[in-house]
Amino acid sequence: MAEEEFDGRVALVTGGSRGIGRAICHRLAKAGAWIAINHSASEDAANETLEQIKAAGGEGQVYRADVSSFEATNTMYDAIESDRGPVDLLVTNAGIASFNDNVDMAVDVWRQILSVNLDGTFHCVWRAKDGMRERNYGRIVCISSINGIAPSVMRPDRLIAYGTSKSAVIAFARNCATAFGPAIRVNCVAPGLIDTDMTKDMSDDLRREIIANTPAARAGTPEDVAELTYFLLSDAASFITGQTCVTSGGRVTLP
Ligand code: NAP
Repeated sequence: MAEEEFDGRVALVTGGSRGIGRAICHRLAKAGAWIAINHSASEDAANETLEQIKAAGGEGQVYRADVSSFEATNTMYDAIESDRGPVDLLVTNAGIASFNDNVDMAVDVWRQILSVNLDGTFHCVWRAKDGMRERNYGRIVCISSINGIAPSVMRPDRLIAYGTSKSAVIAFARNCATAFGPAIRVNCVAPGLIDTDMTKDMSDDLRREIIANTPAARAGTPEDVAELTYFLLSDAASFITGQTCVTSGGRVTLP
């Protein structure tokens, strides 16, 4: 059932245990890639992702590592290389948000969000880039957010650290695309509201208000994000690098 696009390629998806990351794992496996499914805590969910991939005829392995630690990220890469070979396709998806990320936020909340969302992205790209340049092949998608493009007017009291981290991911990806081309392409995906664990505790009122302000009149699915990520990694996107592509049902549009 596998497509040929990524046959023989190794893909690492951080935060592949649940939500958007899981859907990306499935999409890349369907395209033939061998999937390294990263997680930091949800071992059962990560194993479930792997079982689903195998049931669909794909292959992969689960790797536990907290991407906010460069040491743990390095150890994970060493294990992937020894198990299967170097990473060709990298999706930095692992991310966290906190309801305490607002005008009263404590310093440790800021540090925690920046360390996973921004440092985690940096650690994974930094560990991957030299090998990708040597092999003259590397494709990277960093998962940002529409909150990295503009603060949400519907949540003005929240997401200060999250929005900052996701803006920084966009800037980081742009700089890497310029520095590491043509061997490596680096793009960002900026999702709007997607139904996952991250958004399940949102109030019904806020959810309704967001959907009322979304031309597509619905929340997104993890598969919406996975399809765009797959496209940006594929040969069909060979002239696209350093870009941020929004999948938000039209709620945010770039100039
Ligand atoms: P989710 O359902 O909460 O899943 C988050 C994933 O990240 C889990 O697999 C989690 O694994 C992993 N993770 C968290 N901290 C980690 C760490 N330190 N090291 C390694 N893995 C870690 O979230 P989601 O909605 O799928 O979000 C995925 C990405 O999309 C995030 O970057 C998020 O900011 C972004 N995004 C989401 C939305 C949305 O509406 N859902 C919108 C825009 C952008 P463990 O449980 O094992 O830690």
